[in-house]
Amino acid sequence: MNNIAANLERIRATLPAGVELVAVSKFHPVEALRQAYDAGQRIFGESRVQELTAKVPQMPADVRWHFIGHLQTNKVRQLIGLTSLIESVDSERLLELIDRASAERGVVTRVLMQVHVAAEETKFGFSPDELADYFAARRYESLQATHLCGIMGMATNTDDAARVQADFEAIASLHARIKAMCPDLRGFDTISMGMSDDYLLAVRAGSTLVRVGTAIFGPRQY
Ligand SMILES: *Cc1c(COP(=O)(O)O)cnc(C)c1O
Repeated sequence: MNNIAANLERIRATLPAGVELVAVSKFHPVEALRQAYDAGQRIFGESRVQELTAKVPQMPADVRWHFIGHLQTNKVRQLIGLTSLIESVDSERLLELIDRASAERGVVTRVLMQVHVAAEETKFGFSPDELADYFAARRYESLQATHLCGIMGMATNTDDAARVQADFEAIASLHARIKAMCPDLRGFDTISMGMSDDYLLAVRAGSTLVRVGTAIFGPRQY
């Protein structure tokens, strides 16, 4: 068995039933993705539109592509129709553009709202209050061709496990708050949190989707 297959097997063994694994393949060559595919992996995560559009035709058609990076508004059109989930909707303007482009293409795009709880200032996303306001005002009711499937977030990049755990709990409780506020939201069930170094903590806090790159593929070659 190659390393990638062994890594996948080891990680999957730690995930409870119902938690899905995204293999974050950004900056890794298609050959590495094929090894993961041959080991049964079907969900891949990419963070750049150009890289994703280049890899899609080189991989089997049953791969489900998740977009997990900051999506520039001028790249939206290129991405629509290629993803099974855009995990990183970080502004209402981006959401509106995705919705309009999806309606024009006659497709429904599944997305997650990205929430920012980490201490770093550079990360993209809605603040918890902004996201709660968006749902309290029921602004999602105007969406035509977008399915809001849940939220995505990252913990603070720190060795302090208590802080990481608190960040994940904040994301999960925001998700629960939105669900309670908007019982009409159908299928708003995904909580995407957890990466190579912290996915076990994330799962314990209620993650339903972990995004793991380095622990599967090794270090990225930038
Ligand atoms: C790169 C990336 C990951 C994977 O990070 P690893 O530490 O390599 O597991 C997960 N989520 C997002 C949003 C990323 O950009």
